[in-house]
Amino acid sequence: MIVAIDGPAGSGKGTIASILSKRLNLVNIDTGATYRCVALKALRNNLKVENKEEIIKLSNNIDVKFDLNNNVYLDGEDVTKEIRSKEVTQIVSPISSIVEVRKNMVDLQRRLGNSNNVVMEGRDITTVVFPNADYKFYLDATLEERAKRRYKEYQEKNIDMTYDEIYENIKSRDYNDSHKEIGSLMRTDDQVYIDSTNMKIDEVANKFIEIINNN
Ligand code: C5P
Repeated sequence: MIVAIDGPAGSGKGTIASILSKRLNLVNIDTGATYRCVALKALRNNLKVENKEEIIKLSNNIDVKFDLNNNVYLDGEDVTKEIRSKEVTQIVSPISSIVEVRKNMVDLQRRLGNSNNVVMEGRDITTVVFPNADYKFYLDATLEERAKRRYKEYQEKNIDMTYDEIYENIKSRDYNDSHKEIGSLMRTDDQVYIDSTNMKIDEVANKFIEIINNN
């Protein structure tokens, strides 16, 4: 079974995917983390977004794994916290626009998705990675609400970004993520659209589960 969720940064995809994975016994695959691992590896190799060829090479044989507690491993090292850093967050969207990087990550995500029952969240899961997924959702919220949520989350995790920095970062990622050559974030007729702006997490999760159980 594949549950696919797309939506912009801060819409709650990560939280919902984590709840669904526990309640429906699915492996949770955060595809944004795969792009964040490429960005982290690029930073560690002193590469800039402009060094496309080197970044592509690096993405050709990158090893990204997830465990059942949603920890992320890059070449065997636990990088769960490091991939959320300000530096990674600032370059991940342009890096994920490199077509060859996307091809490599989509292959990786399909391998992960084909070997388990999964909930997979990202930007192009319902359209490119698994267009034939059993359940397809688009989770949304206003830019202000998403920036507020991310700011709260980052404060709890001691990640050093101001509200204004987060707001601007999400705004520019929204633009970049919906203007990609391939794998753009988009709404389609076959997704179930959920606007979570005025909903509590539990309400959103219950709505997902109700839809999954009734279809
Ligand atoms: O979901 P998260 O914010 O961690 O994703 C980081 C970045 O990775 C996004 O801003 C987006 O540019 C990219 N991404 C993507 N396709 C996906 C998931 C994430 O391009 N399926």
